[in-house]
Amino acid sequence: MDINDRMKAYVHSDRVVTPTGVGPAWLCIEEGVIQTVGDGPDPSDGEPLVLDATGLVVMPGGVDFHTHLDMVVGGLHTADDWETGSWAALWGGTTTVVDFAEPGVDGGLLSGLFARAAEAVGRVVVDLGLHMTVTDASDVRLAELAEVVAAGQSTLKAYTAYPGRLMLESDELARLLGAAAPLGLRVMVHCEDGHAIEKNIGEARQRGDLSALWHARTRPPETEERAVREVIELARAAGAAVHLAHLSTVGGVEALREAKGRGEAVTGETCPQYLWLEEHRLGLEGAAGLCHVCAPPLRTAEHLDALWRGLADGTLDAVSTDHCPFDWHGGKDRGLTVEGADFTRTPGGLPGVETRLPLLFAGGVAGGRFDLARFVELVSSGPARLAGIYPQKGALLPGSDADLVLFDPEGGTSLDVDALHMNVDHSPYEGLWAQGRVVGVMRQGVLVVAAGKVTQDGPLGRLLTRNVIDGSGPVAPERV
Ligand SMILES: [Zn+2]
Repeated sequence: MDINDRMKAYVHSDRVVTPTGVGPAWLCIEEGVIQTVGDGPDPSDGEPLVLDATGLVVMPGGVDFHTHLDMVVGGLHTADDWETGSWAALWGGTTTVVDFAEPGVDGGLLSGLFARAAEAVGRVVVDLGLHMTVTDASDVRLAELAEVVAAGQSTLKAYTAYPGRLMLESDELARLLGAAAPLGLRVMVHCEDGHAIEKNIGEARQRGDLSALWHARTRPPETEERAVREVIELARAAGAAVHLAHLSTVGGVEALREAKGRGEAVTGETCPQYLWLEEHRLGLEGAAGLCHVCAPPLRTAEHLDALWRGLADGTLDAVSTDHCPFDWHGGKDRGLTVEGADFTRTPGGLPGVETRLPLLFAGGVAGGRFDLARFVELVSSGPARLAGIYPQKGALLPGSDADLVLFDPEGGTSLDVDALHMNVDHSPYEGLWAQGRVVGVMRQGVLVVAAGKVTQDGPLGRLLTRNVIDGSGPVAPERV
């Protein structure tokens, strides 16, 4: 009897992670939604529709608040498209992603949002939200923000880096935050001091310092901290909620901790690459060094330690991936030159949508830094709240979508390229064996990954209707 053939199914385990704790429980699932959660013996009364997950952790599906699937950067296409990237997400226990929409060809936010959604829906196999990227704080664009909310999206993305392309100057960011605040829109900000970095890169180029290590040296830790502190200041003045993307430094985490201490509406994330990979990898010869180019750059050990502490003590709210893979061949190798290397020609970004759960479990729970409940908060509940989709996602509660991960804490995950499903020709974690393994994934009540196999005819992903910060506004919650 296949659980996928049943309209109604029970899942039980001795280690179910619910908002009230970790313990024995059963879930009754019908029509893709959790109907009931209980403890004690499940009431299925011997019917053969029970998934016995005893010994496995049963947790809500992972929510990745920061991915770049199927994206074109500088004429180069990311290695993962909507299909391959979302299948890889499922393999890794992530059932929902929040990706990005950029303004349309006419500059409009709505046209860009609808075009991006149309590309994705019908191809993604995870549920989807889209952060609306704002690169222009003119009145005509800010007037569109209410329509972004009406279209069911509750988060924006802004950059303090990449002048001339994506960056908003301080006064522009202030205007954006001022317009976002009354609408309850959360603004995710990529915080690096774009002007200082451009100057550093220009000087490095003049000196001929273009090896991959100079990618990190031209974006030193203070360029992140300075931008973070300014963004927090602007958010306070505007009364806006900001989310600090991919924090990578001691100073960035400390600034977030201070802001939270003052009770400000600031949240932050980091990514597995900033927890696991050190800056010296950029110094590896040729290909190996260039494969590690991402922004912000990899950092030294003291920064990795500070990020782990920020996850453990509640300063950081989520672990996202910033999944943005490029193949070595025909992608990262653009930085190889006759003289050696030119890091400015290498597209930035690392793969990660599949490896987030094992990397965080291995370093966090198996590493003794925090417990299982905190792990689930960081990979699922926390990002679901930030995205405005909690408790539809990120929780095992009556009314939540039946998106579950069966996780074996005693198992192990190979992070070698050959063992993974992301459509990219290398792995930054080659040779690493992480403690913990995703052994099953359910989406909308269908087991889409189980025992090393996938169910190809699983449900397609949907564009989620996401709530603004106070849960009200033009977008009504689907269920409470
Ligand atoms: Zn990103």
